Amino acid sequence: MRVFKFGGASVKDAKSIQNVADVLRNEGTNNVLVVISAMGKMTNAFEKVVHAYIKDNGLEDALEYVLKFHTSIAYELFARDHSIHEKVTMLFGKLSAFFAQNKSKDYDFIYDQIVCFGELISTTIVSAYFSEIGIGNNWLDVRDLIRTNNTFRAAKVDWETTKKNINQSIKKDELNIVQGFISSDGTNTTTLGREGSDFTAGIFAYCLGAESVTIWKDVDGVLNADPRAFDDTTLLEQISYEEAIEMAFYGASVIHPKTIKPLQNLEIPLHVRSFVNYEKPGTTVSKGKSIYPEIPCFIVKKNQILVSISSLDFSFMVENNISHIFKRLAEYQLKVNLIQNSAISFSVCVEDNFNKFRHFLEEMQSLYKIDYTEGLSLFTIRHFNEESRKAILKRGVSLLTQINKETLQITIRE
Ligand code: ADP
Ligand code: ASP
Ligand code: MG
Repeated sequence: MRVFKFGGASVKDAKSIQNVADVLRNEGTNNVLVVISAMGKMTNAFEKVVHAYIKDNGLEDALEYVLKFHTSIAYELFARDHSIHEKVTMLFGKLSAFFAQNKSKDYDFIYDQIVCFGELISTTIVSAYFSEIGIGNNWLDVRDLIRTNNTFRAAKVDWETTKKNINQSIKKDELNIVQGFISSDGTNTTTLGREGSDFTAGIFAYCLGAESVTIWKDVDGVLNADPRAFDDTTLLEQISYEEAIEMAFYGASVIHPKTIKPLQNLEIPLHVRSFVNYEKPGTTVSKGKSIYPEIPCFIVKKNQILVSISSLDFSFMVENNISHIFKRLAEYQLKVNLIQNSAISFSVCVEDNFNKFRHFLEEMQSLYKIDYTEGLSLFTIRHFNEESRKAILKRGVSLLTQINKETLQITIRE
């Protein structure tokens, strides 16, 4: 089987959905499993629904926005009397039922029960559209297949049960359609973390022992830098699993970090291709050459905080302090992107995705001397050379640099 993943950008409006059908016609639909994300930026819009519901402020407007978005796409793709409109209304009815019945105050639980509708609605519309134009397909609720623990918003996969479920339900000689990103703990909906649909594709490929995975993007493949942040990017034709893992680890947002490992284990090739120029081969991630062409690759992470921690009494920063600091960093869910230590100070570059840095700071300030700078960018260059280093240094004031064999990292105030 081949596994395809279509992300939000590929199904962002009616025309894009028609384009996905063109891609599939071109590729063939036998023995294919398609993973589809929420349309466009709908997961962000559903996150607003979550906030509005929790704050009890603006829920109607937030809901109206997502409802209008989906219904207008459905009206563009289908006749007025098509049964899809009822199906979409029914899904919104299920969401309303959740609001009416929910008693939990657990943010992460509530989040997953709401945002899952992005994927449920998008796959329902796309599946109906395919049927309408003669592309037969088998729509499945992925929550019956991917089993996880109940860590809402960051669920861990139970591989054994998932593999069994998948192999029992997938019709191997048909076009199967499933939702990305969402899963179930057996009772409630869980999610695999933002941008998790790539990982969903990896899970299916692994469990099915697939022939390949193709992630269809609005770019020609994996480029040597994010085209939104850099001019003159170059397409990487081939990268190894190891290189892709390194790039994802340092923050290249083009492939979700968790996606590669299951594919590497079974040596399943991953293709990253353009849903616009779908005749082009794009990038292949597979066993083999580390990177071709061999050029420096740039990764930037914005909104970084550089924290320098030293003891109040000029004593050395040693194992005890450092392990204590790390424990607290983990508890406050601060993502550590770079570490450097000297005898009397310990520096970390962190990302505050859960708005908990203030609490961390308050606690640490009573124990250590803390200096910190917010709003920095962390540039990583894989396979760096002098020219690429200079290009990054031109972007601002460098505050901290770290070099190892293949990787240069620079924290910069732009
Ligand atoms: P999806 O719709 O599949 O979720 P994303 O928007 O998450 O797609 O990812 C595609 C975007 O990733 C591209 O439009 C591009 O701007 C960005 N991107 C970041 N880094 C890279 C890179 N190294 N190569 C290609 N695209 C990249
Ligand atoms: N829709 C989810 C998100 O936007 C998952 C994905 O698109 O990969 O995070
Ligand atoms: Mg994405």
